[in-house]
Amino acid sequence: MSKRDYYEILGVSRDATEEEIKKAYKKLARQYHPDVNKSPDAAEKFKEINEAYQVLSDPQKRAMYDKFGHAGVDPNAAQGGFGGGGFSDFGDFDFGKDIFGDIFESFFGGGFGEPRKRGPVRGADIRYDLEITLEEAAFGAEKEIELYRTEMCPRCGGSGAKPGTGAKTCSVCGGTGQVKQVQNTPFGRYISITTCARCGGSGIVIEEHCPECRGSGQIRAARKIKVKIPPGVDTGSRLRLAGEGEPGLRGGPAGDLYVVIHVKPHRLFIRQGDDLIYEAPISFVQAALGAEIEVPTLDGRVKIKIPEGTQPGTKFRIKGKGMPHLKGYGRGDLHVKVNVVIPRKLNEKQKELLRKFAEISGEDIKQQHKGFFDKMKDAFGV
Ligand SMILES: [Zn+2]
Ligand SMILES: [Zn+2]
Repeated sequence: MSKRDYYEILGVSRDATEEEIKKAYKKLARQYHPDVNKSPDAAEKFKEINEAYQVLSDPQKRAMYDKFGHAGVDPNAAQGGFGGGGFSDFGDFDFGKDIFGDIFESFFGGGFGEPRKRGPVRGADIRYDLEITLEEAAFGAEKEIELYRTEMCPRCGGSGAKPGTGAKTCSVCGGTGQVKQVQNTPFGRYISITTCARCGGSGIVIEEHCPECRGSGQIRAARKIKVKIPPGVDTGSRLRLAGEGEPGLRGGPAGDLYVVIHVKPHRLFIRQGDDLIYEAPISFVQAALGAEIEVPTLDGRVKIKIPEGTQPGTKFRIKGKGMPHLKGYGRGDLHVKVNVVIPRKLNEKQKELLRKFAEISGEDIKQQHKGFFDKMKDAFGV
C-alpha cells in the first residue's frame, strides 16, 4: 500500500497556511462526499481527503508528518506521533513501508471517518395481498397492483441535498466523523471515541435539505406494478417479484415483493385442491327416469347423462375440467354432485298421479312414517 502525499491530496503547497488547508479540504470534501458524489471511487477519495486534513490541520501532527512522512503520524491518535512513546525510540527509522501500511490499515479499521455500520444493506421485502377470481386462478391473468414503497428521491437523486447546494463540514466533529471525550477518573484518564451523532460519522452535513425528501434522500411513492399470475394458483400461493421491494441502503440490493394470492369463493364451484365440485339440482323424475342435463364448467357448458335410478348425492366425474396443475401439465377434474330437488308445491293433478304411482308400486303411503326402531326391526327381522 503506497500512500499519497497529504499535501498532494489536498492540492496545497508544503508551506500552506492553516486557512488555506481548511479551504482546500472543504472544497474537496464537498466534491467527494459519498452522499453527493456517486462515482465509485468517491468514498475512497473522501476517506483520503479526511485523513490528509486530520494530519495537516493539527500543527503537531503536521510537524511530525513534515519530518517523518506517513510513518510519523497516526491521524487517529490524540497527540501527534505514535502514542506517547516518541519517535526517537525507533532511532533512525528504517521500517519497510508495507509494515506501516499494515499498521495504518489496522488503525483505520472499518474506514476512517465513517461509522462502523456503513456497509451495504439489503432492502426490506414487501408483502401484498391480492384477491383474484377462480377464473383468473384457473387460466392465469396479468394484474396491475398499486403499492406504496420507498424510492430514491428523484429531485435530489438520493443525496438529500437541495439541488444546487452542497455539503459542509460537520460543526460538531469538525469533519472527522468522530467525537472524542476525555474523562478524568481516579484510575486515570480515559479517552472515548464515538461516531458523531450529528453527521452519522460522515464528517459532512447537508447545507440545505432537499424540500422533496427533507434530506433523507428517499420518498414514499405509489407504484403500479404488473403481476403475472400463473394458471393453477390457490389461496396462499406466493409470487415473488425479485427486486421490487424496498430499496437497499448504500448500494445494497433491493428487497423482493411477495404477492400473496387469495382466491375469492365462486358462485358455482367449490375448489378441492385441483378438483372442482359442482352441485347439480335435478328433479326426482329426472333422477328416477334418467336424463341428459347441462352443467357449467370453467370452459362453458357441457352435457352429461344421468342414468335411471340415480340416488341423491351421486357424483359424476368430468375429467380435465378442474383447475390446472400449478406444477406440471394437465388439469384436475370436475365432480358433479347430484342434488335431487323435491317439489315444494304440487297441484291436485300432480298429487293424484303420485298417489296412483304409489298404489301401483304397492306402497302404503299412510304407513310411511316408521320410526327408527321399526326400520331396524324390518332390516334385521327382530
Ligand atoms: Zn430529495
Ligand atoms: Zn460530525
